[in-house]
Amino acid sequence: RGLSIGIDIGGTKVAAGVVDADGRILVEEIRATPGHDAREVEQVIVSLVRSLSSEHRILSVGIGAAGWMDRSGSTVLFSPHLAWRNEPVRANLEKLLHRRVSVTNDADAAAWAECRFGTGTGQSRLVCITLGTGIGGAIILDGRLERGNWGVAGEFGHQVIVPHGHRCECGNRGCWEQYASGNALGREARELARANSPVAQEWLRAVDGRAEDITGAVVTSLAREGDPASIQLIEDIGEWLGLGLANLAAALDPGMFVIGGGLSEAGELLLEPTRRAFGRNLTGRGFRPAAPIELAALGPKAGLIGAADIARFSWR
Ligand code: BGC
Ligand code: ZN
Repeated sequence: RGLSIGIDIGGTKVAAGVVDADGRILVEEIRATPGHDAREVEQVIVSLVRSLSSEHRILSVGIGAAGWMDRSGSTVLFSPHLAWRNEPVRANLEKLLHRRVSVTNDADAAAWAECRFGTGTGQSRLVCITLGTGIGGAIILDGRLERGNWGVAGEFGHQVIVPHGHRCECGNRGCWEQYASGNALGREARELARANSPVAQEWLRAVDGRAEDITGAVVTSLAREGDPASIQLIEDIGEWLGLGLANLAAALDPGMFVIGGGLSEAGELLLEPTRRAFGRNLTGRGFRPAAPIELAALGPKAGLIGAADIARFSWR
């Protein structure tokens, strides 16, 4: 039956689950991502694997991490959101778990899942974007992940879109993910709350008045309940998202864009302004086909499912 464990390590949470060969999640567990210690992240993974494998016979373990993998899948070179720096993550985990482990970039894992089980099935040229703490990117060409020369292709979140703009964890300023991610959404809302803007009322109510607790997830869920200020902030995100996708279309000309990650839970509230901005910024518009922009069918679970599926196939 080939069960494997998939673990998606994002900037704020670690989501793990037992996944079957058809991409179905049988059980799932979620923990907070530990702050700044590489060993602590490993310990969370170990404890999740122990807990999930107690009731199921597991063949393999796959990690999808918000970091830059080398081509061999053994070392996380760098991560703007995690403590890993040139970390031999695969060897460390194999030693701790006494099992084979595969490690992939989180957005690559999500793209893989969408191609196998979701919106991307049958697409030969696909770009997948995951919107969470940052922006993850992945390129699928003829059914395989295009990972670049050193394994770090698809880091679209760190394309500078606003010179001298907001500071990014990667060390630069003005990266796309500072304008179109869940973090960007939270930052905008917190700024409004701290400025005592009347539009911040609902956000503050949701977090008992603690402005610092307003996150992108808080705004997204209020937007879905119809809060006008939340809907507006998501429209702003959509504008930046559409602009960035138009740039990607100029570079890569994919047949489809698939949008996943936590922020994709905003659904059409996000996609509608995204498509508008994409159409307005696409180079050669009117004289070339415009790639459709679709939601990830597996939503924020795509990373976990993809990591598990890649583990099932990986060999070395
Ligand atoms: C990282 C990517 C990651 C993405 C989503 C970005 O900041 O550079 O490696 O895929 O965030 O988690
Ligand atoms: Zn950056």
